[in-house]
Amino acid sequence: MPEISRFDVLMGDVNDILCAVNLLDWDARTGMPAAGAVGRGRQVATLTGLARDLATGDAMRAALDEARRALAGAPPGDPRRRAVDDAGTAVAALRRLPAALVTEAADLKTRAAAAWVEARRADDFAGFRPWLERTVAIRREWAEALGYADHPYDALLAQYEPGMTLARLRPLYAALSAGLRPLLDRALAAPQPDTRFLERRYPVEDQRAFAMLVAKRFGFDAARGRLDDTVHPFEISMGRDDVRITGRFREDWLPGGLFAVWHEAGHGLYEQGVDPALSRSLATTDLLNLYAVAGASFGLHESQSRLLENRVARSHRFWQLHFGELRARFPEQLAEADADLFWRAVNRVRPSLIRVEADELTYDAHIMMRTEIEAALIGGELAVGDLPGAWADGMRDGLGLCVPNDREGVLQDVHWATGLVGSFPTYTLGNVMGAQIFAAAVAAPEVANGLERGDYGPLRHWLNRHVHRHGRSRTPTEILRDATGSDLDPSIYLGQLAAKVDRLAA
Ligand code: ZN
Repeated sequence: MPEISRFDVLMGDVNDILCAVNLLDWDARTGMPAAGAVGRGRQVATLTGLARDLATGDAMRAALDEARRALAGAPPGDPRRRAVDDAGTAVAALRRLPAALVTEAADLKTRAAAAWVEARRADDFAGFRPWLERTVAIRREWAEALGYADHPYDALLAQYEPGMTLARLRPLYAALSAGLRPLLDRALAAPQPDTRFLERRYPVEDQRAFAMLVAKRFGFDAARGRLDDTVHPFEISMGRDDVRITGRFREDWLPGGLFAVWHEAGHGLYEQGVDPALSRSLATTDLLNLYAVAGASFGLHESQSRLLENRVARSHRFWQLHFGELRARFPEQLAEADADLFWRAVNRVRPSLIRVEADELTYDAHIMMRTEIEAALIGGELAVGDLPGAWADGMRDGLGLCVPNDREGVLQDVHWATGLVGSFPTYTLGNVMGAQIFAAAVAAPEVANGLERGDYGPLRHWLNRHVHRHGRSRTPTEILRDATGSDLDPSIYLGQLAAKVDRLAA
């Protein structure tokens, strides 16, 4: 279609720049010396500013007008017409954000992330507080510029999960809390496995090799991706053929590194699985967030990682199939364990301080608490200086725990340091959607049979057909409806957790 080619070319240019930003970001979080943070912040800010200028400039405006005219006769469902309409909406929102604010946010996030690493290491909230105060101020201004109906937090939340609001989230949270509480009580009343064998000495290289072996079986294509070490594991891509996943291995805690890699591999499958025809287009570009990504939303992205990590790799069948291979690598450390004990150990339920290490029954309590704190920060009801106190209250009320220090409290997550205010709910949304999508997938006999014999190809193909290949060409709601036949429904997730508790308590 030559009439829309100028739009296609410009979108490709924007995507190229944002992929370069992703590479700089990946490097900043894996190999960059700490001293590079100031320069890197400037580089990221300059490139992000260029992407913004391209997306909101006169050439894009003219290209969009030209494309709209060319596609005026196309039916409403035409994917090219839809891409042009969606780009127009995102560009209009982006234009409402002051250019100086976008550039400052991009610069700040790289330097603040480096400051966070140091503050977390030193348990120094006071040192990190100025960074966080500026971040919250920027995001409050950001929310006002984007606009909202009810609560300023909604403007930020919708950036990560289109259509989501606090008013929709709170009843979902209430249903989850009500369903999770009795499951947690039941799991805690059951005999707990002795998990000390997981804390023996497990050489990191052997952990990494096993983690990658399984990730490849899940379908992660190592010829189009790689695994590196980081402080806070993440996945980021420079297009479908260069997908980086990261892990954090600890010699004295076997599950941490393994499950982190399989989680990130779930994200990686999404990015590697997008239709090649969608490369360098709006369907692989989050224009509003100025971020190159194929996932339709943060929540849907998370659904794919949670599904692989929790529904597959924490399943009883998975360890029946693969425990023998793991023990062959660590024969002394795992001498007294068997598949059933290992499965129980990696599903041990125990309220804990650290979100990324939380079990499935307490994980969402961490998210609900963060959501209310974020909303209060953005709504102006909570000052940054009062965060440690709010955190302590939230952990006491939500999980009955005392927070001994900020390192294991408010400083544990990288999100706010990188400007991601409003993204935490997408983890719980990912849990809920992942459960629904998994239930729909295993209803297909070839997927269920594959999982039974340790062949993960049919699951990956199903996920690719229903989720991955579409990239951002459909909304998360459309993808969820098409894949599962329903909208967000926490009962599927609660049902899967109840089945697990039944088995753990048996
Ligand atoms: Zn994730």
